[in-house]
Amino acid sequence: MKAETTIIENAELYDVKKIREDFPILKKLIHGKPLCYLDNAATSQKPQVVIDAINNFYLSQNANVHRGVHHLSEVSTKAFEDARIKIKEFINAASDKEIIFTRGTTEAINLVAYSYGRKNIREDDEIIISHMEHHSNIVPWQILCEEKKAKLKVIPVNDDGELILEEFEKLITDKTKLVAVVYISNSLGTINAVDRIIAKAHQLNIPVLLDSAQAISHTKIDVQKLDCDFLAFSGHKLYGPTGIGVLYGKEKLLDDMPPFLGGGDMIAKVTFEQTTYNELPYKFEAGTSNIAGAIGLGAAVDYVQKIGQNSISYHEQSLLHYATDLIKEIKGLKIIGTAKEKCSIISFVVDNIHPHDLGTFLDYEGIAIRTGHHCTQPLMHRFNIPATSRASFAMYNTKAEIDKFISALKTVIKEFS
Ligand code: PMP
Repeated sequence: MKAETTIIENAELYDVKKIREDFPILKKLIHGKPLCYLDNAATSQKPQVVIDAINNFYLSQNANVHRGVHHLSEVSTKAFEDARIKIKEFINAASDKEIIFTRGTTEAINLVAYSYGRKNIREDDEIIISHMEHHSNIVPWQILCEEKKAKLKVIPVNDDGELILEEFEKLITDKTKLVAVVYISNSLGTINAVDRIIAKAHQLNIPVLLDSAQAISHTKIDVQKLDCDFLAFSGHKLYGPTGIGVLYGKEKLLDDMPPFLGGGDMIAKVTFEQTTYNELPYKFEAGTSNIAGAIGLGAAVDYVQKIGQNSISYHEQSLLHYATDLIKEIKGLKIIGTAKEKCSIISFVVDNIHPHDLGTFLDYEGIAIRTGHHCTQPLMHRFNIPATSRASFAMYNTKAEIDKFISALKTVIKEFS
């Protein structure tokens, strides 16, 4: 991989030791060894402020939102809606009506597939995804295409793990009704040129959904600048809790979409003859939301902004380049995903060692990496491999941890050979 230096404006080096103090779990010993957590692409650890926000909600704010006139309900409603506003500002949405709380990226994409898709996709229409999608951004579209007799088209990936955009430009036609692509690949770390994809799709008035499950924690996202039509992410990859995520959608599109789930909170008036629906964003938030989760996510957003997204990107890029330089020197090891634009994710395979054996050995040393297909089986087929080992770095990882990981990796390779 070419270790190109990404220039990050307004980035300041921070004291990573101080940041680590904010994450209680990082003090844990695993099998008697200090935890070296390099599985951040699967989920990130949580700072104390996020844990406190959730605790505080249940200790002193807990009540259902939107429906009560009593004090606690007003307090919890305000905390919940404040979290929505924080997220709106975090991704620079035009309105808080455009921020829909979901369980995560998967539910957000399914919401668009079921609601937008069922209304707008017809027989012989085409939906474009890419070869590097997570199953969450494949299966909902497959289900939709099967139901509607529409076609799924796939942007190919080159040997470096980059999208072949010239092919995308050939795939897109007047039959294309939606483009849904991953912003940053969880398996390869590739940062896709989503601005080019959006510009091309918009020339033909085709909406674009960005799966930003990974991108949300690695790069500053401005939905108005990007001009994406939908964007999905999960709280747990952004130092927030599990079970909460966000669908951003342009107000006009969301307004025209039918509800996804029916039930409490999403209605204006219900009679047996007819139901009218609530306004945005509540139309898409049927039932009691994950209130504590949303508040926890709001705290995570505050925390990330306090550290500074540019500083986090700068730190992660320096870890990526440091680790890449060391890992590529290891004989018998091949990095899968050598794109020019990458975030702090390194996937690799090692001759004659199954990733699961490697992951198990590293675990004995307290080192947590992920092994498997990373919910991207078509991508694994593209590279003719069943699985990879993946190390992924977050704001709290250190070069010392990378040294430890590389040294353990060399030991396991030596022992297996
Ligand atoms: N897309 C990508 C790129 C991901 O990395 C993930 C999580 N691994 C998902 C979608 C699904 O996210 P979740 O399981 O939080 O819904």
